[in-house]
Amino acid sequence: MIIRQCTTEYKLVPIRRHVRVLAGLEGLRSPSYPVVEQWIGISTDEAIRIKPSFQAWQINRWPLIEKRMSRSDCIAWLQRHGYPIPPKSACLGCPFHSNARWRQIRDEDPTGWADAVDADRRIRTGFRGMRAELYLHRSCVPLDEADLSDDSNQLDLWPLECEGMCGV
Ligand code: SF4
Repeated sequence: MIIRQCTTEYKLVPIRRHVRVLAGLEGLRSPSYPVVEQWIGISTDEAIRIKPSFQAWQINRWPLIEKRMSRSDCIAWLQRHGYPIPPKSACLGCPFHSNARWRQIRDEDPTGWADAVDADRRIRTGFRGMRAELYLHRSCVPLDEADLSDDSNQLDLWPLECEGMCGV
């Protein structure tokens, strides 16, 4: 396993940069007081992910926590209002996917699967002087050759959600 920097580089920094654009702060010195209130959709079963903003110009709020809504409350709400049930919010090519999630992508989202297989192939040679081969699947074989049938050898020690704060 290599250092995990994806959350910072592909989520936190781009979101923060865009929020600054929306708030008219692009290219300006950051105010030392809150001018942005960011709502983050963490439900009560993920309360451990609640973190304050590290930016003085921004404060965080968690509306689902304020409404005391769990993940199952959210699913019930979506069903009541006729919306489809979305998958968990991890990135398409997240190396933490379970085999069940990889199978779901393969079987239900051919475009996403092709994208993930392509991304897996592209990272093979590593980056920044790395000599080892990299793979998205934990068995270290190309994603489209990985055995996705086995759900037995790994407990779900991580709730398959990106915490969104790693590397900060
Ligand atoms: S969901 Fe997975 S790939 Fe995406 S940022 Fe989080 S750890 Fe990285």
